Amino acid sequence: MTRTVRAKAPAKVNLQLAVGAPEPDGYHPLVTVFQALDLWETVEATPRTDGQIRLTVDVAAGAPVDASGVPLDGTNLAWRAAELLARTFGITDGVDLHLIKGVPVAGGMAGGSADAAAALVACAEAWDTGATRGELLTLARRLGADVPFSLHGHTAVGLGRGDDLMPAMTHGEFHWVLATQRDGLSTPSVFAEYDRRIEAREQARSELEIDREVMTALMAGDPVALGSALTNDLEGPALALMPRLGELLDAADAAEACGAIVSGSGPTVAALARSRQHALAMAAHLRASRLADAVVTASGPASGTVLIQD
Ligand code: ATP
Repeated sequence: MTRTVRAKAPAKVNLQLAVGAPEPDGYHPLVTVFQALDLWETVEATPRTDGQIRLTVDVAAGAPVDASGVPLDGTNLAWRAAELLARTFGITDGVDLHLIKGVPVAGGMAGGSADAAAALVACAEAWDTGATRGELLTLARRLGADVPFSLHGHTAVGLGRGDDLMPAMTHGEFHWVLATQRDGLSTPSVFAEYDRRIEAREQARSELEIDREVMTALMAGDPVALGSALTNDLEGPALALMPRLGELLDAADAAEACGAIVSGSGPTVAALARSRQHALAMAAHLRASRLADAVVTASGPASGTVLIQD
């Protein structure tokens, strides 16, 4: 009997994103601190007996997501995750994958990586592979630098390409406001702008060290200290490509955000609030500014990828 298995994976925000100069293969060494947020991608996996993979996409109710740019073929990260899992475990069945997107596309919040992580977990169960979490983590690393964190969740330091993870200690909950744009920023274009700025010496290479201020604020559960410690080396390049994000950062400041940054490679702006109530007030302020296409609130740290039990 075929059954549908569901898994959900979280979005992420980078609390620190330090980027080194590119290596000969073009990859940039990173030191980053990720936090998982309770905005979810859901993947439903239903085995097929004909060995084919099929993929459909929907948007979660009320989510500020334009899914028109999401590929429906073998370039989709969820599809690639299913293929890799099948190859690794000698699975001959196929699968219907249904993605329900709650994370903005190309928003710097790792929505595609979350789909890959959720597809790994859902297909592993649907195909009854018996894969361990460690085995899934190894596959996640092969799919993309942000996929291991989507699987892991919570708060973690990412080294190497961001995929070498160490859990970070945190206390309490942090409340975020996320201001999204309909037009995405492609991650490669933001890194290309970063490289151009390094070459033109407009941007110094950062020391690739874990930011102690971030770690201390996380352990203390102190949003004010965390807000002033947020850093992102890709923020300058993202602002150069999309200058209106600077106005959004100013609007977050005017709404007394503890801190605000461009999330990852952008264009989502993430603003940290003092409390859940402050997050709601700040969201109303940012909506009224009309500088973002959508504004949502979210809390972290959220769990990693989990099966959804019916
Ligand atoms: P990151 O924060 O990891 O850089 P992102 O959140 O900025 O990623 P994604 O939403 O993951 O960006 O998608 C970036 C691009 O990847 C999309 O524009 C799309 O072409 C492609 N893509 C592949 N698989 C998916 C997927 N499952 N969902 C969304 N986009 C996907």
